[in-house]
Amino acid sequence: MTISLEDAVRGVTEKIAITCLDTCSSCGGTGAEEHSKLMTCDACGGTGQVRMQQGFFSVAQTCRKCGGSGQIISHPCKTCGGQGRVEKRKTLSVKIPAGVDTGDRIRLSGEGEAGLNGGPSGDLFVQIKVLAHDVFERDGKHLYCEAPISFVDASLGGEIQIPTLEGKVKIKIPEGTQTGKLFRLRGKGIKPVRGGSTGDLLCRAVIETPQNLSKQQKELLKEFNKSISGNSKQNPLKEEWFSKVKSFFDN
Ligand SMILES: [Zn+2]
Ligand SMILES: [Zn+2]
Repeated sequence: MTISLEDAVRGVTEKIAITCLDTCSSCGGTGAEEHSKLMTCDACGGTGQVRMQQGFFSVAQTCRKCGGSGQIISHPCKTCGGQGRVEKRKTLSVKIPAGVDTGDRIRLSGEGEAGLNGGPSGDLFVQIKVLAHDVFERDGKHLYCEAPISFVDASLGGEIQIPTLEGKVKIKIPEGTQTGKLFRLRGKGIKPVRGGSTGDLLCRAVIETPQNLSKQQKELLKEFNKSISGNSKQNPLKEEWFSKVKSFFDN
């Protein structure tokens, strides 16, 4: 069953339609018409096995006619052809608990295929697959997202909005925030289905370079650039990188 991340986090009840072998209602799973008798299988003489000659060897194989039981039904059920089971399409309601992840399996007791000869039904396992989300990436109980931040906001610091599963929250970002900085929002991740503490939301800052600037904006930036260039306190990464590259070529 494929579900959205929101449904996986909050839990959901979903309907699924499956086709499976169910007990034949005409014969109650016995495979026999009323007043039918069990007779000794004529193909194997009641042993349940037939011998096949293969070169020098004689190999015993399960009798196909009686399925190894050695007995056949005199009047097989017309509905199921003596199988005792018929294919049925059924719709089931599956309760998916909050916190499930891809690969988790939900067991529905007795909703599997009917047993042979009217035996008890097996279980149905529903395997969960959680769809990729537009905003959040999941890693276990933690959620990851990215927040684009203008280079001005990143430089001056301020408030930005971060999406969470319960809506947007405002957080403060410090002056000089760089791309890749992770802001951790504790407890805004996922509560695991098997218990334990709720995970965190980690938001990665991505500083955006402005595009399609006007002539005036470009002039302002050039002016600004003159004031900043060569200043190792204001551009530490760039100045450090330049000096590393320089010493590499000088040696
Ligand atoms: Zn039947
Ligand atoms: Zn047989």
